[in-house]
Amino acid sequence: MQMISARPHVCNHSHTHAPTPPVVSQVQCSEEELGQYRDLVDRAVEARTHAYTPNSHSMVGSSVLAQDGKVYSSGNFELTPYADHGEQLALAFALADGQKPKDLKACAVFVAKEGASVEEARTKQSSMTSCGNCRQAIFEINPEMHEILLASDGYNVEVYRAGDMLPKAYHRDRPEVPNLAPPSSDHPDPLVAQALIARSRSFVPRTNEPVGAAVETVDGKIYTGIRVETSSFSTQAERVAMANAMMHGEHQIKRMVIVGGSSAEGEIPKRLSWDALQAVAQQSPQAEVLLPDGHGGFVSNPIAQVPGYLLTHS
Ligand SMILES: [Zn+2]
Repeated sequence: MQMISARPHVCNHSHTHAPTPPVVSQVQCSEEELGQYRDLVDRAVEARTHAYTPNSHSMVGSSVLAQDGKVYSSGNFELTPYADHGEQLALAFALADGQKPKDLKACAVFVAKEGASVEEARTKQSSMTSCGNCRQAIFEINPEMHEILLASDGYNVEVYRAGDMLPKAYHRDRPEVPNLAPPSSDHPDPLVAQALIARSRSFVPRTNEPVGAAVETVDGKIYTGIRVETSSFSTQAERVAMANAMMHGEHQIKRMVIVGGSSAEGEIPKRLSWDALQAVAQQSPQAEVLLPDGHGGFVSNPIAQVPGYLLTHS
């Protein structure tokens, strides 16, 4: 057996060993498209003001543009120990609204600390790409998406193809998981109906376990969320739905429906997370959580009394 000894690295230079990033070429765009992307950055700047960052105080805004011109924006939400990044939520909002991954065109991100000058921060964004988790997620959802960064003048944009932003990206060929068919008829409770529709839009290539959620705020509005799975993160449907409400300035949840499984009547999701429900409980201790009873009905539980045995960490 041959012994291999580790050879110490010998270096006589005084330079530091920071890795050299590979050069990634920008995508050339029409003036019209560039204008659209500058607007998208403005939407991200605005979305940042809704971020909820009690832990990091680093406020992010992200906006996703779909081919039909619709824009979905989110801040980062630190509702649980694992915070949801702005890009992850904006992507989830778009998919929950019925957009197809291939129809998501571009994603912009804007980052600045709490209390920072936005004008000053605009000139620093070219060194502030989305984090690796988010780039991996964007790549897996649609590698043709454009990632938009502000140039150092704080106004013009630099456009990159998501697939180029991750040279030699981690990739697994997975069989295509078709989405569930949307419900054939609307459930009489509009909140349950929306959760069932959301479930059919889940992006779950890893587990094929779709989950949809819908929250009703004290103002009577409904916001939805879905489970989105990529190699770098999985969003919880209920957390997405709650962030969706908070993005609209609504923090008080009255009722929440969470539905998993593939059957028409739905099941309690296998990976229901206590973290997410605890976050809802902190924001809205009076909330009711409706879960499928397995026979076509939904049982309402005060959030404080959701049986612990139903909840497992994902
Ligand atoms: Zn990120």
